[in-house]
Amino acid sequence: MKTMLIDGRWQAAQDERTIEVLNPCTGEAFTRIARGGQADIVLAVAAARRALDGPWGRMTATERGRLLQKLGQLILDNAEEIAQLEARDTGKPITVARNDIKVVARYFEFYGTAADKVHGEAIPYLDGYNVTLVRVPRGVTAHIIPWNYPAQMFGRSLAPALAMGNATVMKPSEDACLSGIKIGELAMEAGFPPGVLNIVTGYGHEAGAALTAHPGIDFASFVGSPEVGTMVQESTARNHVPCVLELGGKSPQIVFDDVDVEKALPVIVRAIVQNAGQTCSAGSRLLVQESIYDQFVGRVAEAFRAIKVGTPEMDLDCGPIVNKKQFDRVNNFIADAVASGVPLLAEGSLASGVSGQGFFVKPTLFGRVPRDHRLACSEVFGPVLSAISFKDEEDAIALANATEYGLAAGVWTENGGRQARVAQRVLSGQVFINCYGAGGGVELPFGGVKKSGHGREKGLLAMEEMSTTKTIVHYFK
Ligand code: NAD
Repeated sequence: MKTMLIDGRWQAAQDERTIEVLNPCTGEAFTRIARGGQADIVLAVAAARRALDGPWGRMTATERGRLLQKLGQLILDNAEEIAQLEARDTGKPITVARNDIKVVARYFEFYGTAADKVHGEAIPYLDGYNVTLVRVPRGVTAHIIPWNYPAQMFGRSLAPALAMGNATVMKPSEDACLSGIKIGELAMEAGFPPGVLNIVTGYGHEAGAALTAHPGIDFASFVGSPEVGTMVQESTARNHVPCVLELGGKSPQIVFDDVDVEKALPVIVRAIVQNAGQTCSAGSRLLVQESIYDQFVGRVAEAFRAIKVGTPEMDLDCGPIVNKKQFDRVNNFIADAVASGVPLLAEGSLASGVSGQGFFVKPTLFGRVPRDHRLACSEVFGPVLSAISFKDEEDAIALANATEYGLAAGVWTENGGRQARVAQRVLSGQVFINCYGAGGGVELPFGGVKKSGHGREKGLLAMEEMSTTKTIVHYFK
C-alpha cells in the first residue's frame, strides 16, 4: 500500500507491512494503509533535511506563501472528495466533514497569506553596530496528530510550519489518515518540492516513537493524549528538541443565574455533542448556579433527548466513536457512573438502521455529579456531559479550576463585571464569554495550561512556535 509520501514519491513501508482501516459505523475493514516504522522515518527525515538544503531553503517567503495558498485552493476544488474520505474514516456526519475541509483550506490560506508578513526587529545597541533580530525556520519539524479532526489537524499543524520554511514529517493517526494522504497528493500537485512535506503512516508506538526519537528533527508538534504527550516530551528531550504539546481537556461551561437561556442552550449542547464529544476542547463539565440548576439542567436534558446519532449519510447530530478501544472506554465511564449512583438524566437515541457492530454511543447527561467523581475530573472523549452545581462566583471559579486540565472555558452571564472577573481567574488557554468555539477559529491562538499541554497552535502565534530567532550583530565602523 503506497500511502506514504517520502521525498516526493508515494511508497509502501520498507518491510511492506500494512494496517487495516475500519469503518466506525460497521466495525468492518474497508482499506489498508502502510505500516511505516523506523526505516521509513529515517528516509523521511533525511528527505526533509535535503529539502532544506535545496530550492525550498532558498525560496522567498512570498513564493512559499503562494504555494500554501495554491494548496488551499486545490483543497477547496477537491473538497467533496476529501469530505467523503473524512466522513468514511471517522464516521462523522457529512455536513460536519464538509465544514472541516473548508477549515483545512482556510489554514493554508491564512498561513499562506501570512508567510511574508513576518518581520524582524532592529535592536538599538552600541555606536557603530546594526543589530537585527530575524525569524528563521526551526529546520526539520515533526508532526503527530490524532484521529478526531484528521483533516483539520493536518492543516493546523503543517501550514504554519511550511509558511515559516521548515521541511516537515507528518505521522497522522493510524485510525484516520485518508484525508491527509489526499491533501499530500494535492501538495505535490501544487508544486511543493520533494521532501518538504513527508507523510509516514503507521502506529504511534512504531512510526510515531521513531520520529520523536530521531536525532535529525529540530522540533516536534504533538496533538493527542496526555499520556502519549509525556512520552513525546521525554523522547524529544533526549536530543534537546523543543516541542508543542496540545493534550486533553475537561472544559467547563460556567452558567450563572442571569444567563440568557435561549442563547446558551444550543451552544452548550453542541459543545459536547459535536464530533460525538471527541473534541479536546469539548465543553464536558456543565457548572450551573444552584438557584437555576434544576430548571436549566432540565432544559439541557430535554435537548439531549432530541439528539439523534447515525451514519455520515444520515447526517444527524453526531456519528459514532472512532474505534473500538475508545468506544469501550466511553461505555466504561457511563457504566461506572451509573453503578456508583450518579443520576443519568437523559440520553439521545440511535437512528433506526445503524449497525449493531458500529461504535455508536448515545449522548448522555449526568446530573449532580460529585465533584471528586472520576466523571467530573477525567476526560471521557465521548458525548457525555456532567452537570454540577455551584453556589456563587467564588465557588464557580474554584470548581472550574479543580481539574488537571486547562484548555478552554465558557462563561455564561449577562453581568459585565462578572464576565471580566471570571475570564481573568479561570485557568485556561481560551475563555469564551456568551459563546463557545470548540473546533474552528483558525485565527485564534489555541493551547492549554496544566496537563492540557504547552505552546500554542493556530493564529499568528503558531508561526512563532514554528520558527526561532537569530540575532545578527553587524559592526560597520
Ligand atoms: P493518542 O495520544 O493515543 O494518539 C495521538 C497520536 O500519537 C497518534 O497519531 C498516535 O499514533 C501517536 N502516538 C501514539 N503513541 C505514540 C508514541 N509512543 N510516540 C509517538 N506518537 C505516538 O491520542 P488519540 O487517542 O489519537 O486522541 C485523543 C486524545 O487527543 C485526547 O486525549 C484528546 O483530548 C487529545 N486531543 C487534544 C487536542 C488539542 O488540541 N489539545 C486535539 C485533539 C485531541
